[in-house]
Amino acid sequence: MKVFKFGGASLRDVENIKNVAAILKKFSSDNLFIVVSAMGKTTNALELIVSSYFERDGKAQGVLNDIRQKHEAIMADLFDPSDDVYAQVNDTFVEIEWILEDEPHDTYDYVYDQIVSVGELLSSKIVAAYLNKVGLGTTWLDARDVLKTDETWREAVVNWDATKENAQTVVKPLFTEAAKFVVTQGFIGSTKDNNTTTLGREGSDYSASIFSHCLDAEGMYIWKDVPGVLSGDPRVFKDVVKLDKIRYDEAVEMTYYGATVVHPRTIQPLMAKNIPLNVRSFLDHDAAGTVISSEAPPQYPPIFMAERNQIFLKISNKDFTFLVEPHIRDLFEIFTSYHIFINLLQNSGAYFFISMTHVPDRQKELMRDLREKFDIEEHLNCDLFTIRHPTPEAQALLKEGKRVFFEKMIPDTYQVLVG
Ligand code: ADP
Ligand code: ASP
Ligand code: MG
Repeated sequence: MKVFKFGGASLRDVENIKNVAAILKKFSSDNLFIVVSAMGKTTNALELIVSSYFERDGKAQGVLNDIRQKHEAIMADLFDPSDDVYAQVNDTFVEIEWILEDEPHDTYDYVYDQIVSVGELLSSKIVAAYLNKVGLGTTWLDARDVLKTDETWREAVVNWDATKENAQTVVKPLFTEAAKFVVTQGFIGSTKDNNTTTLGREGSDYSASIFSHCLDAEGMYIWKDVPGVLSGDPRVFKDVVKLDKIRYDEAVEMTYYGATVVHPRTIQPLMAKNIPLNVRSFLDHDAAGTVISSEAPPQYPPIFMAERNQIFLKISNKDFTFLVEPHIRDLFEIFTSYHIFINLLQNSGAYFFISMTHVPDRQKELMRDLREKFDIEEHLNCDLFTIRHPTPEAQALLKEGKRVFFEKMIPDTYQVLVG
């Protein structure tokens, strides 16, 4: 069995959904476990509904109507008015409407998961129905019957034992001669009390990886709008090249330093079972893409990563004495208390140099706490660039015409913060 994952871009309109069916047709003799994201930008719109509901600004219903219209317009092109899928999709919308009718009395994060998870439920119902309509026998599966988590709303932690057991007892029997495909949702799971949880934004890649692990898939395939893993995000860097193969550890490093092509948690469950991850283009189905596995290529080219919207902090003691262990402890305690991750850190005798991503909801409080204890020089709107397997030319390219705040070299990895 293979596990496939299709993201929002590959399902954003009728033409793209038909394209997904065309890809799947080529694999019709295989057992496929297919994980789908919400269509297009549906998840962003659902997040708006949640914030409007809590702010009571009266906009939630309008945004919901908009999402409904978009899905119905797609369905009108794919289905006949009498098809069952209309009732299934309608039931899913009714669930949000019920929530919105009441005043909010549960926590924001709990309600978020109950509402935002609907994007994947809608897309999976539409995709499963369409595959059946075009003669590709498909079973729709509620991922919440398999993927079990704790109750950390919006960042749920997987209960591996329960999920593994469900993969065997619930999923395996679904594959039959008449229905070789199973379609389910990425991003969502459920608690032991069957409340819906989500795994964090962009989490559908991770879902597919969890299912691949628990089902002992022979391979996982994610279909993207790029030819594979490139030597940099093509939206940020010019002249990038496709990497034909990379080893798991390289992919882990790339996601750590900010390559958004796969969710950072995706690699580990696959690596644990030596399951190859194939990154393929949904625009060019037959092209080879990138294989991420235990095999390394003979050589890596320089690989570029970017973290935008960085803040550079130059931190010193108020009396300009050496920064030693107790100060360092205080500094880290402040960052930890706001759950803020430091992207790059360097110290000298009297200074700590830090690069962090701007966090709109906590930045002011963080700076207030830091300034109580330290002197701080602050620069906004910086970019943190990382190069794996750097060359002097690649390093020079990133610094060209920019103000360099600080740079750092460790084996195989160069980082520079520029403004
Ligand atoms: P999905 O719809 O499957 O969730 P994403 O939009 O999350 O897909 O991921 C694909 C995008 O990742 C590409 O459009 C590209 O801009 C970006 N990206 C970032 N780094 C890389 C990289 N190194 N190689 C390829 N794509 C990258
Ligand atoms: N739909 C979710 C999101 O947009 C999960 C995903 O697409 O991976 O974050
Ligand atoms: Mg994504």
